[in-house]
Amino acid sequence: MPLDPGRTVAELRELQELTADANGAQRVAWTDTWERAREWLRTKVAGTGADEAVDAAGNQWFTLRGGSGRAVLIGGHIDSVPNGGWLDGALNVMAGVEVLRRVAEDGEPPATVRLVNWADEEGARFGRSLFGSSAAAGSMSDQDELRRRTDADGIALPDALRDHGVDLDSALEARTELEGAAAYLELHIEQGPVLESLDLPLGVVLGTFGVERHEVTFRGQAAHAGSTPMDKRRDALAGAARLELELPEIAKRAGEGAVCTMGGVVTKPGIVTSVVETAECLLDQRHLDAGTLAAMLREAKEASERFAAQEDVEVDWARIWNIEPILFDERLIELADESVREVAGSSHRLPSGPLHDAAEVARAGVPSVMLFVQSLRGLSHTKLEDTTGEHLELSVRALDRLAAKAIGLVTGG
Ligand SMILES: [Zn+2]
Repeated sequence: MPLDPGRTVAELRELQELTADANGAQRVAWTDTWERAREWLRTKVAGTGADEAVDAAGNQWFTLRGGSGRAVLIGGHIDSVPNGGWLDGALNVMAGVEVLRRVAEDGEPPATVRLVNWADEEGARFGRSLFGSSAAAGSMSDQDELRRRTDADGIALPDALRDHGVDLDSALEARTELEGAAAYLELHIEQGPVLESLDLPLGVVLGTFGVERHEVTFRGQAAHAGSTPMDKRRDALAGAARLELELPEIAKRAGEGAVCTMGGVVTKPGIVTSVVETAECLLDQRHLDAGTLAAMLREAKEASERFAAQEDVEVDWARIWNIEPILFDERLIELADESVREVAGSSHRLPSGPLHDAAEVARAGVPSVMLFVQSLRGLSHTKLEDTTGEHLELSVRALDRLAAKAIGLVTGG
């Protein structure tokens, strides 16, 4: 079948009918609704002649064998958050189906082409994102912790997985799926406001941000709010407040989309009649460049020490979590840029704030790239998530162009 991007939009609506209720999409991984979506997907791919296999981590693979064993992968995730939108994850899967149809129509491709529907990208039920892709990438190393996880009803993660044919202890066997993978392509809604503000339908993703997450604790002295003169106070909140106001400056100096967020401050004793003794701040910093991210962290630490000295309080830092920036492949970024310009006139390169399955695949050493399509109002993970039909169709065309160019690249054509 020749490429028909309008069919992708119609099929996404069909999936929505099948799996959403009045509150939005309900395709939470390891549930009956998710399984129904996977069965529906199987029927959609059937006409292409692609072989289906489900790997040890529950990822659903559809393979069109080509002249070369080197494979171009197209990936998405059909799972959603509860009360989710109709496009997050599903767009990539259904656009991939359309590309498979076009490739099959053209006869045996010079490279093998595989569509993968990753299992449990969202981590909505058990709080563990990127389950299937991290297993395939070989980076999953938290099985002992996962074994103890339960959902809101007290059902253990291994039991829920077993109901869907997945054994947690052998999930890492999915690693063999990436053997022969020469390129990985993922189309996704932007989930942010950048492309809409530039009035562009499509963009090329440079990579996913590195993240530094810390708890920053300022310690002063609790003292009576009535009897302690202003110049005799050791107010922990004053240090925290100064740090919060410095964050936009740190981000501005770093540039290139840098973001810094103080997502929470807990004060103690936290009563109206006392100066604050401790202020525990949650700080999140993100950047695409590892060196710049390290500089942002250093600046925030230095600023916190300066403010602590000025307020006569102490400060200490504890890391909660961090991840390195993950950069996509330069040659694929070029091809993606070309593809976007061909279908939409102009392109834009931007980093991704959220993590995606593509980051796991890239970490495993497979050259990867992502395309973003504009999200209306920057919204996702809500039933209000939307993109115009026109932009969705352009995104399918861009993915198809990119797939054709990637097949050429990996077969030296
Ligand atoms: Zn997604």
